[in-house]
Amino acid sequence: MSFHFIKEQDFAAFVADLIRAKTVIGPVAKTSRQQEKFVFAKLSGPEELRLDYDVTILPPKKEFFPPKQHLLLFDGARVSGCVEPVEKVLFGVHFYDVKALDMTDTLFREKNEDRNYLAHREAATIVISSIQKVSPRAFWASIGSEVKPRGHDAWLTKVAGGHVYEAVTAKGEALLKHGRFAQASQPQIAGARQANEEISKQCPEQLKGTSASNAKKVRAAFGVEELWTKFAQDCFSCGSCNTVCPTCYCFDVQDWWHIDQDSGGRTRTWDSCLTEDFAKISLGAGAQENFREERAERFRHRFMRKAAYLNEKLGGPACVGCGRCSAACTADIADPATVINSIPEA
Ligand code: SF4
Ligand code: SF4
Repeated sequence: MSFHFIKEQDFAAFVADLIRAKTVIGPVAKTSRQQEKFVFAKLSGPEELRLDYDVTILPPKKEFFPPKQHLLLFDGARVSGCVEPVEKVLFGVHFYDVKALDMTDTLFREKNEDRNYLAHREAATIVISSIQKVSPRAFWASIGSEVKPRGHDAWLTKVAGGHVYEAVTAKGEALLKHGRFAQASQPQIAGARQANEEISKQCPEQLKGTSASNAKKVRAAFGVEELWTKFAQDCFSCGSCNTVCPTCYCFDVQDWWHIDQDSGGRTRTWDSCLTEDFAKISLGAGAQENFREERAERFRHRFMRKAAYLNEKLGGPACVGCGRCSAACTADIADPATVINSIPEA
């Protein structure tokens, strides 16, 4: 680990040189209905990079696990895999999204390794950037503090007069050659630490309790059906809360054929456990069963997954407090902080 400093006036040249050398994905602005929103996209110039973003519409997991991804293609008896990782730099990721990526790494590594995900993940260099603006529904400061961000290669923090760049891995070190970096001084390093601590005080929402106490009370509420019916009464089963979530990882796999009936492929697409069809299965001979037919059952399932079921495996809750689900939910009922805070203690 080493600390470096780049002056503000040299920063654009650093990003420009990086873009010339590599594929760089970063937060860029996208304006819709007079509102400024942000997305991760390929940068073509340093002026596009918006490190002052609050949160992106979709999390950066889409770079490794896209909404639609071919797993294999076939043509007659010839079958080919579709893992073609592109080396890229994911520049300007907030720490909560890095925590979520690390959780996805864990889940896609267990048992049968998911090479379609891991090959893309391993080809990436990830640079965290300090949060400069907090999104209106964020509560990342009060959830899962025992889970530390892991898997990033560098951490960039904006301080007075420039940026402190903490190189965490050899891949993070390797980016230094693209900019006019100097060794960071102790006051600059302390300034970076303070900036990251100060911004966490600005989180607008707060989840009460600890990860363990919340896991306990959420589990204990499993059988309180009237509670889940009340929470889910305005749910449209649209699945938006799943779609925008950085820790959701369910997918559907479909085989398809071209009209020649001889060539086609196997493709996976993101799936959502809040949608009505998610738990529908075939029983054969035209019969079917839906084992989470009611909205309240699906709503409850999401909270069990986020706050309880995966905690042991991940070391904490499967929610990083980004607030994307709250912002995406038309009925405004998806907010984990609001829902978990209102569940009585076990
Ligand atoms: S909780 Fe909200 S976002 Fe999620 S499925 Fe229901 S209506 Fe859609
Ligand atoms: S459940 Fe909501 S707040 Fe938690 S990580 Fe997913 S989108 Fe973010």
